[in-house]
Amino acid sequence: MAFVITSACVDEKAAECVEVCPVDCIKEGEDQYFIDPDTCIDCGACEASCPVSAIYYIDDVPEEEKEYIQKAIDFFKKG
Ligand code: SF4
Repeated sequence: MAFVITSACVDEKAAECVEVCPVDCIKEGEDQYFIDPDTCIDCGACEASCPVSAIYYIDDVPEEEKEYIQKAIDFFKKG
């Protein structure tokens, strides 16, 4: 588990992160983008590129945003 995209992405979907990710693990969901936790290599490029600061390293995800960790896991589980 790695970097996590949180609420600031919802309905924003700037998508800068998708272009900078070296392993192409950021996928588009209905209302936000998601990082595949199994593929992410923790490089941090996406975090730096996000114009709305929606991306956090998992250990730094704010308490009120923690539901987004599970949301990403569920997104990739469903395929
Ligand atoms: Fe991709 Fe790096 Fe962001 Fe992981 S930390 S999602 S590998 S850009």
